[in-house]
Amino acid sequence: MQVCSVAIDGPSGAGKSTISRTVSKRLGFVYIDTGALYRVIGLRVVETGLMDLDTLKLSIEFTNGEQRMFDGTRDVTEAIRRHEVSKAASDCSALPEVRAFLLQLQRDLAGKNNALMDGRDIGTVVLPNADLKIFLTATPECRAQRRFEELSQKGGVFTYEQILSDIKQRDFNDSTRKEAPLKRAPDAVLLDTTGNTFDESASLVEALIRERLTDVL
Ligand code: C5P
Repeated sequence: MQVCSVAIDGPSGAGKSTISRTVSKRLGFVYIDTGALYRVIGLRVVETGLMDLDTLKLSIEFTNGEQRMFDGTRDVTEAIRRHEVSKAASDCSALPEVRAFLLQLQRDLAGKNNALMDGRDIGTVVLPNADLKIFLTATPECRAQRRFEELSQKGGVFTYEQILSDIKQRDFNDSTRKEAPLKRAPDAVLLDTTGNTFDESASLVEALIRERLTDVL
């Protein structure tokens, strides 16, 4: 079966995952969140202080369209969302062996179904032949505010200033690393969501996909 793929890249907090999840449901695509893969490795480091890829039994299950992450038999879907795991995931993601370890896994996941995959290097490295590439961004302040509200709802203890400073640090790490840095693919459509409501951004992404993939949809 011929499958198609949409690559959505951009910095942390640009709304990639919430938008991608919603739009995938509307279009009947599988949504693949690649940051979650890096986060499983980051969680290991936070909990054990070690990054031992040989003992990592990383697997993914899709239950009712929701991506659940496992390390062995342990469901780590919620644990990988902890704020301290974000930094560890970003640090690990700069290592060439980590990126190589996850590359084929990501390609295999995208090759099975019509997929919308989000990350940092999907359009540039993982799926350079994606049918559509979108680079989703927003100002650091706007992204920090969104993340602050999201974490506060979950009872988070971090201030807006801490989150903004972490976001800037992660932007710097992600875009200056040597291996697969965060950058817009030349053929990616740039979408700045600063000041948009979630619904506005989701509708823009959906419209772009429908316009480009008329044969499939
Ligand atoms: O998207 P999310 O914030 O969950 O990703 C966690 C970290 O994983 C990011 O800060 C980034 O460093 C890394 N990542 C990456 N390449 C991807 C997806 C995520 O380097 N395709």
